[in-house]
Amino acid sequence: MNIVITGAGGVLCSAFARALAADGHKVALLDLNLDAAEKVAAEIRAAGGDAIAVEANVLDKESLTAAHETVLNTYGKCEVLVNGAGGNNPKGTTTSEYFDKADLLDENARSFFDLDKDGVSFVFNLNFLGTLLTTQAFALDMLETGGSIVNISSMNAYTPLTKIPAYSGAKAAVTNFTQWLAVHFANCNIRVNAIAPGFFATNQNRTLLFNPDGSLTPRSHKIISQTPMGRFGEPEELLGTLRFLIDNDAAGFITGVTIPVDGGFSAYSGV
Ligand code: NAD
Repeated sequence: MNIVITGAGGVLCSAFARALAADGHKVALLDLNLDAAEKVAAEIRAAGGDAIAVEANVLDKESLTAAHETVLNTYGKCEVLVNGAGGNNPKGTTTSEYFDKADLLDENARSFFDLDKDGVSFVFNLNFLGTLLTTQAFALDMLETGGSIVNISSMNAYTPLTKIPAYSGAKAAVTNFTQWLAVHFANCNIRVNAIAPGFFATNQNRTLLFNPDGSLTPRSHKIISQTPMGRFGEPEELLGTLRFLIDNDAAGFITGVTIPVDGGFSAYSGV
């Protein structure tokens, strides 16, 4: 199949691209960071797979239209779209888990009242609007022949994590949009599902999870203690769910679901 993956230069989605190319699919790796996508695409080609890197900004319609043209001219119509580009930003993040008056006076701290409007919009847009706009650019290809879309949600979609209201709200919107779009496209054979990864150590959360010396932060200890399996996930542990969701034989009647892959985090009340 012809598969488009956004955020494919990143940790999780590069693992998706490598695996799907190894399965024999043609994979277009879209990323704002062309160098990162190109590096992964070159590795895939060196291993005998078929992959191209395409520069694309999921927040820019013109950029997405150009990326779509490139994919169409190289591979033909997109049959599977993985909306992986996403992440958080410090400007949409509070310093403290619980409101602390001291943060109001500390110029290095960000209280709820200091959350930056543009920072919050940026995070919300990157995760939610980036998924919607990319789907507009590529799902047109699927209208006649059908297809499959996989969005990337998060544990935050179920219960928000402290400190990151923008990211939590945005991922809740991604899960909600997955259901909405699944219904909307149900009569044209386009299935829309999502994966909600638990905690995987990657670039976007590195500073939240690790101290500069590489040791676990207090937040990491908390996460591990709330994850019944007692560890972070490995990107490869998402691949089975991805392969399942895009396989029409295995998952042909599945649409509108978000599957947690989280070592039990979302099932655990903490008691
Ligand atoms: P990552 O930072 O390694 O990768 C994200 C990629 O997206 C980067 O290559 C970046 O260049 C690209 N990107 C950023 N803005 C873009 C834009 N405007 N247009 C196109 N590409 C853009 O992060 P990751 O952890 O691999 O995250 C992949 C997805 O998984 C994200 O949606 C993230 O929110 C989600 N997720 C990650 C975790 C985790 O534990 N790492 C957990 C839950 C959900």
